Amino acid sequence: MNCRELETQLTPYLDGELIDEARVAVESHLAGCNECRAHVEVERHNLSAIRDAVKRAAPHASEAFKSRLFSNIRRDHAHRRNVRLSRFMAVAAGVTVAVVVSHQAWKGYQRRLYEQDAALRHARQLPLEIEQSPENIERWFGGKLDYRVTVPRFPNTKAAGARLLQVRDKPAAYIRYDEPRKMGLFVYGDDNDVDVGATPAVGNSHGYNVVSWREGDVVYQLVTDLDEQDLRELVPPTPGATLDVRPAALQQ
Ligand SMILES: [Zn+2]
Repeated sequence: MNCRELETQLTPYLDGELIDEARVAVESHLAGCNECRAHVEVERHNLSAIRDAVKRAAPHASEAFKSRLFSNIRRDHAHRRNVRLSRFMAVAAGVTVAVVVSHQAWKGYQRRLYEQDAALRHARQLPLEIEQSPENIERWFGGKLDYRVTVPRFPNTKAAGARLLQVRDKPAAYIRYDEPRKMGLFVYGDDNDVDVGATPAVGNSHGYNVVSWREGDVVYQLVTDLDEQDLRELVPPTPGATLDVRPAALQQ
């Protein structure tokens, strides 16, 4: 089984629908392929987030209704891998029961998906495309993305280099800082899909802290294994703002 074949088996695999032989084939591919393993992990997270969203959306509905709603959304999600609120609402309306989804909860869910994806991509430590000064890095990004990339200067650490990457569907600048510990900063344009404000907020994914903040239509996500105490000294790069380190559950 190769990576492309695995992709076609992913949904039935996660739904527990594969029979012995097919399941063994998927699992033996996963045992030898980091990339697919990471992919499966993200999809599994997405799946449980959708389950939670359905529970929140229909707290008093019958189990039969919830499972129908879930499988509709799930089918749509598997198909498009990128459910937007409007589509979610259309599916809910399709089963003729009014379902109110908190827009804020939805955006919080979206932010967690971006945090997960940023953490996984940082963990892969892909080679840098340019290893020069912050000024040269900024020049190098010129014209490659729809917005101007500025390299934040953090105290006590220097940018080691950069490359182009993505965070989910968004083309991103990736800037790596190597001292005192490896940190990766993703910078990408976002109208308002991701629930990130001007005040940096700390999330957590795959063993990394992910600090997210926004300047206008540009989102910054810093992935690091520094703890919150060290982060307070690094972030935010702009004077005057404060770091919001409330647990994720209280940030919605
Ligand atoms: Zn693979």
